[in-house]
Amino acid sequence: MYISTRGNYNTVSSSEAIKLGMVPSGGLFVPYKLPLFPLKQLLSMQGCSYQELALYLFDLFLEDYPAEEISSCVYKAYNQYNFHHRDIVPLQRLRSGGYIMELWHGPTAAFKDIALQIMPLFLSHALQRLEVEREMVILVATSGDTGKAALEGFKNVPGTKIIVFYPCGGVSKLQELQMLTTDGPNTFVVGIEGNFDDCQSAVKEIFGDCSYNKELASIGYELSSANSINWGRLLPQIVYYFWAYLSLFEKGQIAAGEKINFVVPTGNFGNILAGWYAWSMGLPVNRLLCASNSNNVLTDFFGSGFYDRNRGFIKTRSPSMDILISSNLERFLFEAAARDAEKISSWMIDLQKKGCFQVDGKTLANMQNYIYADFADEADTLETIRETYFSEGYPLDPHSAVGMNVYKKYRHLTGDETKTVIAATASPFKFGESVLEALKGREFLAGKDEFQLLEELGRVINLTIHPGLKDLDKKSVLHQNVSTKMEIKEQLERILNGDV
Ligand SMILES: *Cc1c(COP(=O)(O)O)cnc(C)c1O
Repeated sequence: MYISTRGNYNTVSSSEAIKLGMVPSGGLFVPYKLPLFPLKQLLSMQGCSYQELALYLFDLFLEDYPAEEISSCVYKAYNQYNFHHRDIVPLQRLRSGGYIMELWHGPTAAFKDIALQIMPLFLSHALQRLEVEREMVILVATSGDTGKAALEGFKNVPGTKIIVFYPCGGVSKLQELQMLTTDGPNTFVVGIEGNFDDCQSAVKEIFGDCSYNKELASIGYELSSANSINWGRLLPQIVYYFWAYLSLFEKGQIAAGEKINFVVPTGNFGNILAGWYAWSMGLPVNRLLCASNSNNVLTDFFGSGFYDRNRGFIKTRSPSMDILISSNLERFLFEAAARDAEKISSWMIDLQKKGCFQVDGKTLANMQNYIYADFADEADTLETIRETYFSEGYPLDPHSAVGMNVYKKYRHLTGDETKTVIAATASPFKFGESVLEALKGREFLAGKDEFQLLEELGRVINLTIHPGLKDLDKKSVLHQNVSTKMEIKEQLERILNGDV
């Protein structure tokens, strides 16, 4: 069963938590009690597949899902069609120490696929179980990555329509084409004349408009989001922490019970939080490293206990981590503050009203017990891509390079030689321009379009282009809706009426 971090809601089943996404009166759903996954049990699963491990773990959390339903979700999501590696999440060993956990073999070449390939299936079953008769309309505002991952996850899922809004001219050509070439009768993409904030606030306004929501309900639709705060997106991420451990053990890289570190390039705090859950369930972890880019709100927070979003927003080469409010942090704070819902409520109100809050000393000490935080700026990021490629032969994308840079600084500073797994959250091809800039210099990019750069990168690092990015310029564009931000509701109605 699931409870609210702010103590303002009744206990709900996993189906309800996934259907609701967040607590309607504010707050996030967390498991009432975390299940344990004893090490002995994990190690006894030696030789099992990613899918088998996922089944086992999901079963611990989704108590109202029948086993055959979970199994059907797992095999529909994690298979050779959607993931271009038989291990789903393969582990690579670097010569200088450290292991790379490749989370980007899914259809859109970034780690969000691992959750978004399965969460829509969880949702669809939840709707059936809760006898929701209305069709779910998933609204997503995207600055690039999430849109395509959500489209791929929701396409053809019964009982749902997915509509993605993105800023025209505000995403890369590749990202735009990735979205506009999505097939499936229930997928819709709308370009908004404005920036990402315009998209986001328009979507938020629609969610908050009660009379409009009633109107939609009367014609058979209910709105929902595919946000990273949905428990259904967090849960799938717990699996790969256990998987990485089991893989290292099977390869004889660690002894049974040996503690390891994980380094996680962080934005909304979802990925690293899943690592904390795995740790709390019994995984032998020594430390989690929270790696930020120049938007280093979290680095400051883990140092001082003072969270302060009142600062300039910096556009970086790791755009999926350009975030000043890390929504999933609320769940971690709930645990670090010994589940004191009153404290969480008051901090979150401060954050909303003043843009900052200060945690007490005990909570801060707890936070620091688990997580070490640091950041990498733009120069660090490019240098780390270069260095890791030329000394190890391993091409990192800018997000993963932020993680690697923070790991190197941590190791140098602390002398900690604990075996360490670094999460690689995007394929180098997804951010090929920055990778080429790091490897060949800025001048090399001049006069080449995105597709030429992809080909160049393939040659330079001698790897085949990720299938989710290849030949996008040869696919047909299936979505051509453009709207001003004032007309979003009309656009939505046209889509729901079947006029688009
Ligand atoms: C979303 C994303 C992140 C950040 O993950 P969070 O769970 O939001 O912390 C990092 N890297 C890439 C490539 C992403 O798409």
